[in-house]
Amino acid sequence: MPNDKQTIYKGRFAPSPTGPVHFGTLIAAVGSYLQAKANNGKWLIRMEDVDTTRKVEGSDKKILDTLEAFRFEWDGEIIYQSEQTRHYEKALEQLIDQSLVFPCLCSRKQLTTIDSDIYPGTCRDRKLPENNEHALRLLAKNITIEFDDIVMGKQSQSMAQQCGDFVIKRRDGLFAYQLAVVVDDALQNITEIVRGSDLLDSTPRQVYIQQLLGYPTPAYCHLPLAVDSDGNKISKSEGATKVDIKNREKLICSVLVFLGQNPPADLSSCNINDIWKWAEEHWDVSHIQSKTHIQPVLSQ
Ligand code: GLU
Repeated sequence: MPNDKQTIYKGRFAPSPTGPVHFGTLIAAVGSYLQAKANNGKWLIRMEDVDTTRKVEGSDKKILDTLEAFRFEWDGEIIYQSEQTRHYEKALEQLIDQSLVFPCLCSRKQLTTIDSDIYPGTCRDRKLPENNEHALRLLAKNITIEFDDIVMGKQSQSMAQQCGDFVIKRRDGLFAYQLAVVVDDALQNITEIVRGSDLLDSTPRQVYIQQLLGYPTPAYCHLPLAVDSDGNKISKSEGATKVDIKNREKLICSVLVFLGQNPPADLSSCNINDIWKWAEEHWDVSHIQSKTHIQPVLSQ
């Protein structure tokens, strides 16, 4: 019997419920969806609400309604990070057992006065348990993490020199995204991660945690970022305009253009099912441009 875990492609779309779906979110949704379909795989949805302070009440439901209106079809139960804390605790224990976690009492203000973006190791010699209020940092060993991104090509980062010790549990007690995402991807047996290239430089930290926890490393496929006319990332937390489901056909076609899929000019006048059919049949990940900043074609 083949082992399901190894043979079945599992992708995911992991929005943070911080606002409605905008063009940037749609790119990640369409890219991850079509890549899963093209690989006869499963496409899961995870609500990344680990940072409960940024959560906008009701936006999870709105995101799901929008996805449904665009006729995305997902597999399995939707996971909410806010319900996964016990798994993050377990992973943290494993890292603590390896003596790789230390309490950090540095304030944000203290850290902004340092010239470099790399944490200088101020609290590295502190030991757990610590009575003061603190964050937890993961020690960055002197190793280089390398991976070959499907769109962006070969990447490498020296953990000690280019990243530094990083926070895995915040001072306010919330787990950091970097740890949560690794645990969830492993629990859900995700084999390939398709997402925006704003997360490309988070990936070495995630691969590092996977290696420390003995998890497999999935394949990575980072999509170019849509930017606004000022060159800023289109992001829902920065008040980007939400997608209007009345324009769903044109919007999906715009995403296909953006991702280099070259749809026929009249595709946007077809019905949504035919658009998906075309997209699934013609999807070719190798046509995606690796340029990280491309102006979105918003033909509405
Ligand atoms: N939750 C992140 C976002 O909405 C995506 C994280 C990921 O795909 O790993 O930008």
